[in-house]
Amino acid sequence: MKKRRRRLLLFVMVCAAMVIGYSLFNKEESTTIPPKQAAADGTTTQDGGELSGDSDAETGENAESEAPAEAESPAPTDESKSGSEELPSDQPSHEGNNAEGEEQTEDGLVVIAQPADIAVLVNKQRKLPEEYNPSDLVYPDVRFIFSEKVEKRKLRQEAATALEKLFSAAEDDKVMLAGVSAYRSHSTQQKLFDRYVKRDGLVKARTYSAFPGTSEHETGLAIDISGSDGKCAAADCFADTKEAKWLAEHADEYGFIVRYPEGKEKITGYQYEPWHLRFVGVDLAAELANSGETLEEYYDAVPVTQ
Ligand SMILES: [Zn+2]
Repeated sequence: MKKRRRRLLLFVMVCAAMVIGYSLFNKEESTTIPPKQAAADGTTTQDGGELSGDSDAETGENAESEAPAEAESPAPTDESKSGSEELPSDQPSHEGNNAEGEEQTEDGLVVIAQPADIAVLVNKQRKLPEEYNPSDLVYPDVRFIFSEKVEKRKLRQEAATALEKLFSAAEDDKVMLAGVSAYRSHSTQQKLFDRYVKRDGLVKARTYSAFPGTSEHETGLAIDISGSDGKCAAADCFADTKEAKWLAEHADEYGFIVRYPEGKEKITGYQYEPWHLRFVGVDLAAELANSGETLEEYYDAVPVTQ
């Protein structure tokens, strides 16, 4: 009888020890688990929402689809690129993309000091000054999917000349391109954005339309391109066309880059946009084509994750 009681007591003690141990372990675990990452990575389209100002395309749907899941990884850092004085002399100037002389607004965005720099970095964290309007906009002599001579046909002089060469080289390879949308003034972007905010509210609007001042189209250095038939204009299906393949292979030879590449969504803050080309000049375009870097990585900028 005594033996049984002792065994029972031992059993109870073991159980109690297990319960205490288990709860301690759980407590420990719950304090070390990092806060849950937001499911959505916040990448959006640069063009979808903006384009819907010109067409009836429903863009919210497109903007909400998520980029493929991938591990969060910070942009690689390379000290040698952060200071312009350390650059070899044949490098393009980083002027205008240094933090120096740039102020931060109350909404957390940096106002770009040198907006006219050909290699300017404009993204969701870096906006053009309110009053900035490119001074050398021209109409490039290339095919567009529309015939009107309107603002969105314009590009800055240097980009326009380069685009004409690009279109002509593509045609030599039997690839017929057409412009979809190039320059967009600050006031146009502001009007579009205001319309979306009125319709869907600020939070939703920001998921599919660029905040005024942060669209590359406002620089006069960016253009959306499709095939001459206009099919898949600024749409995901453009990725599988021969026109997209030609652009991916040859755009850098004329100073353009595919600004929002596949797999870099968390660095650029935008979904893959094989149609959105950005002029940066031949030297920088060649360098980026070689390294596979985005403009954000090139400048050691903070990855845009939302
Ligand atoms: Zn675009």
